[in-house]
Amino acid sequence: MVQPKLRPKKDYGRNHGCERCGRKRGLIRRYGLRLCRQCFREIAPELGFKKFS
Ligand SMILES: [Zn+2]
Repeated sequence: MVQPKLRPKKDYGRNHGCERCGRKRGLIRRYGLRLCRQCFREIAPELGFKKFS
């Protein structure tokens, strides 16, 4: 029996991660962005977003 093993998510994770700092936690993929929450909050005002709480 071949058990499905957890494979490294290299291919999968390539497109995932903050495009600003590379962080993968708290990622926000919205509005065509791939940013973590921190980066999003930092650049949100620049993008025209109001406070994001
Ligand atoms: Zn980030």
